[in-house]
Amino acid sequence: MRLSTLALALAFPLVAAAAPTTIPDAAMKTAAELRERALADTLAWEITEGLTTEVGPRLAGSEADARAREWMIARFKALGFDKVWTEPVTYPKWVRRSEHAEIVSPFPQPLALTALGYSAATPDGGLRAEVVAFESLEALQAAAREAVEGRIVYIGTTRMDEKAGRGYGQGSQVRGRGPSLASSKGAAAFLLRSVGPEDTRLPHTGVTRFEDGVAAIPAAALSNPDADQLERILKRGQPVVLRLALDCGIEGEYTGANVIAEMRGRSRPNEYYLTGGHLDSWDLGTGAVDDAAGIAIATAAAHLIAQLPKRPARSIRVVAFANEEAGLYGGREYAEKHRKEIARAILGSESDAGSDRIVKLTATVKPEARGAIDRIAEALAPLGIEYDRNAPGAGGSDLSAVHAVGMAGLSLHQDTTRYFAWHHTANDTLDKVDLEQLRQNVAAYAVAMYLAAEAKGDFGSKPGAFARKP
Ligand code: ZN
Ligand code: ZN
Repeated sequence: MRLSTLALALAFPLVAAAAPTTIPDAAMKTAAELRERALADTLAWEITEGLTTEVGPRLAGSEADARAREWMIARFKALGFDKVWTEPVTYPKWVRRSEHAEIVSPFPQPLALTALGYSAATPDGGLRAEVVAFESLEALQAAAREAVEGRIVYIGTTRMDEKAGRGYGQGSQVRGRGPSLASSKGAAAFLLRSVGPEDTRLPHTGVTRFEDGVAAIPAAALSNPDADQLERILKRGQPVVLRLALDCGIEGEYTGANVIAEMRGRSRPNEYYLTGGHLDSWDLGTGAVDDAAGIAIATAAAHLIAQLPKRPARSIRVVAFANEEAGLYGGREYAEKHRKEIARAILGSESDAGSDRIVKLTATVKPEARGAIDRIAEALAPLGIEYDRNAPGAGGSDLSAVHAVGMAGLSLHQDTTRYFAWHHTANDTLDKVDLEQLRQNVAAYAVAMYLAAEAKGDFGSKPGAFARKP
């Protein structure tokens, strides 16, 4: 801009600059007190312990899923939330009954595996077929139909290793798209290496999705050591025949619900901070780190805020989302139902990455609200949380659809080193949750939620905002 243009712009501003969003000094003082109280609080632990003990595994659509909803409703009410309600969520119900696999030849032996969500069953008596292995989805994509038809496709990508750049996203692509691609080429079944970094014989489940018009086939994940074993046998160059017996599949439709609780704000109760976690879990473990901890962190943080002598201006809304695991059904339903009034959801964040400590803050907000995020970062710094001012923020997976319809997002990134070894396996149990790290999470959520709910001005949520994927 040339100087004369600048002078003109200053003299005749055509558009009034939007007022920046600010955080009052008094709120910073309250946030510091909240932070200290959270570090001594035990509610998040009690919720994680209670849900994983009294309900246990809660596969979406199961009898335990219904018990989890009742448990959560009762808990929210007992904690004194001002309003507790449910909103229905409908999805195809998938069930797992039993699963076995063995190498028939050349070296007969059992294999540890688990079916993926939405996998089809094998025929009665099981399925016997030769294995054809590929290194990647791209290699399977390039394969001729004759090479695949009637066989068990195995994709043996290298074991997940975040540090080496082989992340969860990469592995979950193979899990999500591999079975459908294999089926479209006539495969009898699909196997992959578990998407996890560890060396236990516990396989990792997770959902897969068959494209419209593509028949569901049996699809399962081998544990890492079993994937290694299969690969060693394949390398010996003889045809490898497996027998698979998976009894699982879709049993009609099921209507569950998002369970929602709200702590009312002091002066702008129709606007709210959105947080939560997903209430369903895979059936193999008790869903402690994925995602009882997320629900517990959000609920305990909201509860601490509700105990303050003076509530923040806006409400805090906690959603225990339905069926995240099989395809973000609860999050998508919430976004659809609330999209027109999305401006009321001023900012959102959710924990769905375990219960280990939060290491970094990022946010996607309108430019005028960046100063308020800077203040939140300042209040989080004593918890050892770094701030990356330039990276986007998007909460957890349940909130992805809500962000997509225009909600501003804050991310409290956790240390996920341990999480990826346990989630979606039989090892996702309460003993993996560390009380002190859980408390640090509650402190961070309480501080961020309180300060945002008390801010002067908004964060930019409105229909169509942040159109580029945060
Ligand atoms: Zn999760
Ligand atoms: Zn999960």
